[in-house]
Amino acid sequence: MKVKIWGCRGSLPTPGPKTVKYGGNTTCYELRSDSGELLIIDAGSGIRELGLALLPELPVRSHIVISHTHWDHIMGYPFFTPLYIPGNSFDIYGPIHFNFSFEDVMKKQMDYTFFPVRMEELAAELKFHDIKEGEHQIGSFHVQVQYMNHPVLCLGFRIQVDGKTFVFTGDTEPYFDTVYGDREPQNEEEREEKEELDAFVQSQNQRVIEFLRDADLVIYDGAYTLEEYPPKKGWGHSPMEHCIETSLEANVKKLIITHHDPTRTDDQLDELLPGFLADLKSQGASMDLEFAVEGQTHQL
Ligand SMILES: [Zn+2]
Ligand SMILES: [Zn+2]
Repeated sequence: MKVKIWGCRGSLPTPGPKTVKYGGNTTCYELRSDSGELLIIDAGSGIRELGLALLPELPVRSHIVISHTHWDHIMGYPFFTPLYIPGNSFDIYGPIHFNFSFEDVMKKQMDYTFFPVRMEELAAELKFHDIKEGEHQIGSFHVQVQYMNHPVLCLGFRIQVDGKTFVFTGDTEPYFDTVYGDREPQNEEEREEKEELDAFVQSQNQRVIEFLRDADLVIYDGAYTLEEYPPKKGWGHSPMEHCIETSLEANVKKLIITHHDPTRTDDQLDELLPGFLADLKSQGASMDLEFAVEGQTHQL
């Protein structure tokens, strides 16, 4: 399996001289099985370039899985040229919503108020699928879906093909106690409640470790450093140190930290990496660690 990064910026496309090296496009990954079958993860602005790269291989038949429908993960969809070409076909999977279908959400951003072409005018054959946590067979890709910790329903994907395992966490942060926070329980009843909450939080974080277990490659949302994290707690993104710790516990072979904050410059990422690598070395850990770089391909 090959994984190519078409977009690894979080929240908003961030072009300019300070983001040339790691890239400014928002989330999009291309997976290729050894037989050439294509599965696309997320339709951030990076999918536009991917669309152009696919034009020499028409007709395109592909699966697209969407982790969640925050704008930075779907904004490139209307600019994905293969959607406009008859003969192409796409099965598009996204998180189930309670009050409307996943297809409706994707249609909304192509409402005439926001975009000049309606979804009905797209010439490719499109099939939408609402998916939940669980096991899914998508072509030759075996996809295990797990809900992650983000302010909207967000799917993490554990994908197995050709005997390799790849995990994309989607946007996520560590589970924490949202009821008590830093407040100490005041009486026995509260102490009991806090104990139950702590156990639940711990079990949820352990579930993430198991989801990553023994993966060949994990691409993990680590938008912040641990130092930057406290005022951003609850925004749905992890500190880099947490991505590293979780992946180590899960015996991951290679970790790529992604969803770079729009304010993060190439120089800052370059400065952060050696410290993390030195920490891993001092622990005797063999896990590879990199920051996601737009345009890079990783062979598993
Ligand atoms: Zn995001
Ligand atoms: Zn998000």
